[in-house]
Amino acid sequence: MTPDNDPRWARFNAQGMQCSCGERHVGLFPIHIQTPLGWPGSKTYEPDDALRMDGDFLSRDLCVWEGKYFSMRVRLPLQINGAAPAAFMYAAWASFNRPDFEGYLDARRNGRLNKTARAQARLVNRLSGFPDTFKLMGSAFQQEDGGPPLLLIHGPQPDNDPNHPLISQQRQGIGVDRMFELFAAYEHNMLASSS
Ligand SMILES: [Zn+2]
Repeated sequence: MTPDNDPRWARFNAQGMQCSCGERHVGLFPIHIQTPLGWPGSKTYEPDDALRMDGDFLSRDLCVWEGKYFSMRVRLPLQINGAAPAAFMYAAWASFNRPDFEGYLDARRNGRLNKTARAQARLVNRLSGFPDTFKLMGSAFQQEDGGPPLLLIHGPQPDNDPNHPLISQQRQGIGVDRMFELFAAYEHNMLASSS
């Protein structure tokens, strides 16, 4: 079954679907992960402008931990097969080395984001619906619209299974069944009700 002939996909995008979370969802929405895994500080977001490179800092898109670990919000898409560019999206966190973190901020500040610019990045969340995704390695690509970089999981995986299913599902895309399964893994079960 492809999205074209799957009535659930049509319904999800037109009238929407009633969800176990109490809302009615119309079309794809990102799964927003609040902080990097293990973040011990306050979960209240400060403004990006208040960024401190020493000590602890958390905004919606930036995180500095003990002045030593640097993370950024990234978008991690899984394309819906047959409906591209529609994608199931995690708004998750990835860690960077300090020069790449600062280089990205400098490019963003100066309007020099470039979609061919990439940096090595490491996913620092455990995504529900997958075996442990913590520390999966990949590349973060700058986005010229100024939105969070796109994270592509690929390459050697020193801390993980090189055949991790997130790698193949990001590369090959997912079907509508898997999409509903991944939403349900975040308490968005839309298949329980037929309304
Ligand atoms: Zn929901």
